[in-house]
Amino acid sequence: MRPALLHPVFADITTLPGVGPKMAALISKVAGPRIIDLLMTPPTGLIDRSRRPTVADATPGERVTMLLEVDRHEPPSQRRRPYRILCSDETGFVTLVYFHAKEDYLRKLLPEGSTRVISGALEDYGGAKQMPHPDFVMDPQRPEDLPLFEPVYPLTAGLHQSVMSKAMRAALRAAPVLPEWQERTWLEARKWPAWREALSELHAPEGAGAISASAPSRARLAYDELLADQLTLALVRAARRKSPGRSFRGDGAMRRSALAALPFSLTSAQVNALADIDADMTATTRMARLVQGDVGSGKTLVAFLAMLNAVEAGAQAALMAPTEILARQHLQSLKSLAEAVGVTLITLTGADKGEQRTAKLAGVAKGYVDIVIGTHALFQESVAFHDLGLVVVDEQHRFGVRQRLALTEKGPQPDMLVMTATPIPRTLALTAYGDMDVSAIREKPPGRKPIATRTIPLERLHDVIAAVRRALQKGEQVYWVCPLVEESDALALTAAETRYADLKDIFGDRVGMVHGRMSSAAKEATMSAFHEGRLGLLIATTVIEVGVDAPNATAIVIEHAERFGLAQLHQLRGRVGRGGKPGACLLLYKGPLGETAKARLSILRDSEDGFRLAEEDLRLRGSGDLLGSAQSGAPRYRLADFSAHGELLTAARDDAELVLRRDPRLQSERGKALVVLLHVFERAEATRLLSA
Ligand code: ADP
Ligand code: MG
Repeated sequence: MRPALLHPVFADITTLPGVGPKMAALISKVAGPRIIDLLMTPPTGLIDRSRRPTVADATPGERVTMLLEVDRHEPPSQRRRPYRILCSDETGFVTLVYFHAKEDYLRKLLPEGSTRVISGALEDYGGAKQMPHPDFVMDPQRPEDLPLFEPVYPLTAGLHQSVMSKAMRAALRAAPVLPEWQERTWLEARKWPAWREALSELHAPEGAGAISASAPSRARLAYDELLADQLTLALVRAARRKSPGRSFRGDGAMRRSALAALPFSLTSAQVNALADIDADMTATTRMARLVQGDVGSGKTLVAFLAMLNAVEAGAQAALMAPTEILARQHLQSLKSLAEAVGVTLITLTGADKGEQRTAKLAGVAKGYVDIVIGTHALFQESVAFHDLGLVVVDEQHRFGVRQRLALTEKGPQPDMLVMTATPIPRTLALTAYGDMDVSAIREKPPGRKPIATRTIPLERLHDVIAAVRRALQKGEQVYWVCPLVEESDALALTAAETRYADLKDIFGDRVGMVHGRMSSAAKEATMSAFHEGRLGLLIATTVIEVGVDAPNATAIVIEHAERFGLAQLHQLRGRVGRGGKPGACLLLYKGPLGETAKARLSILRDSEDGFRLAEEDLRLRGSGDLLGSAQSGAPRYRLADFSAHGELLTAARDDAELVLRRDPRLQSERGKALVVLLHVFERAEATRLLSA
């Protein structure tokens, strides 16, 4: 339950003076519906009114603040003309311009003969300086009325900066003093203010530097957020360590026969990952390990060998794929190996109906089936296992910490192994997968041919089509990925359909298309046709199942490559060159490219190392949109920024570990304050674990 002292900040913004339902709706759009959301929306910029240029020094085009004499009012001679007020200092003249103004209001605000501090956007009007609708008109006797540094917030249509600022000031007044959850020595060493103070420095800054990411107040708030997150993850880890697991130690017989059946030997990266897994599985605690490695680095094989360990020890294993197509593909690639070893392996998906399904379910329940490959349905429906020992999740970035936790809370607490094909930078792994242990496969099996990557402007589409024709003539297959349209699936689909029609005109029946709106049966049919070589060219939106394997595909064309993230492009590129023939990746872009897009595409051209690309992606994107953080399951931070606060993340992780080691239930004075912190950031998983 939320502590009572937080109730004021979790109140609706409509409880703030001056915020009615209409403004509340707009503010909700940019910040959120509650006062706390407002407080956690950092300004994006700052208007500096501390400088007071003379009229002669003030530059049109800038927002300036000047001390002016009010010389004369000139009410409009005709309707629809502006009301003008002539002002000056000893260096020159400025005209204030008001449209639709009320004369008595203006005469009160700016009496003739008075001196006023006037702030606003200065313009040049035929050589004369004028200022339409000043932001501020202040009596110089009351300087405290003028905010010298005014924060600028994100806005939306109908929401004015002044409304937002006013709401923010009211929100600040509602913020209570909270018990200090940070260690005093750490605060002192960093010269960080208390939470309440940090918020007011952020939203009522007293200097131009106050809102920068490196400012002490901002850093403190960022650290709060990171600590809340790391504490949550540490609690999840601790809960897992406490929950009893089983020790699986097979005799190695099945594994040996699997390895003997393979025409190659494991890479040392695979051997190492497997050693990590074996140690976890042998231990009596529950395994929660992430194996990350590029597409084609041999993760699936590692997972299979791990499953054999569970089977050897007498238990069952399940492999959960994100889609039916991928489940089927896993079956295909593991079937012969399973036969060679003598384990029973089946798929179980939504496509299984009637008697077949009943038979499969019975096999799983009675334990005749050793390994089940399936989709989410494996867990959502009440599929009963005889003795499930290991769950492998081929995750492709679809789950977050929360869902994984839910998964492990289900059923008989099996060991868990997660595979992800998008390498994640170390810092990000700490947050997205901070609840797990991590093994990386950085080495690829030998003999992989490099993929020739080229960037080509959209104007040269005909060259690309010619290249596709040559590939098809050689009997090779090509993927064609259609533009991602952020705003709308429907638009993306239209684009894809148009391209499909164009290419069908050129290449005829050999062209197929898959997209997200198709039924899974239709998708599956098209994918199989491509897989079996009946289609030569596959048009796809990115919803194509990126894990899909077509060994004969040698080229991939990606339209509007500039709209994709680096990690995504790398994933897509991994679709080709899997069958021993050299691959090509043609990145079609629409110029002119921005700096970041240019950098992204050229890094991709120069490197095939997914880990390096992930680090570069992080560097290029900074915070906010890390590898599409929604995708990666990483939380979206509101105050922390990876490019500025990366170093704080490791500190937060160590801090969280240390705290829990000393005070596992957060009952000390600092512990109790940390519980408040968890509530401030609404880490429900954490507070639930604590109260359990
Ligand atoms: P991932 O799951 O990481 O995408 P896979 O396990 O599907 O990779 O492996 C990709 C391909 O490489 C498969 O055809 C697999 O048989 C093969 N492979 C796996 N490990 C090795 C290895 N050590 N040496 C050679 N080929 C390998
Ligand atoms: Mg795979």
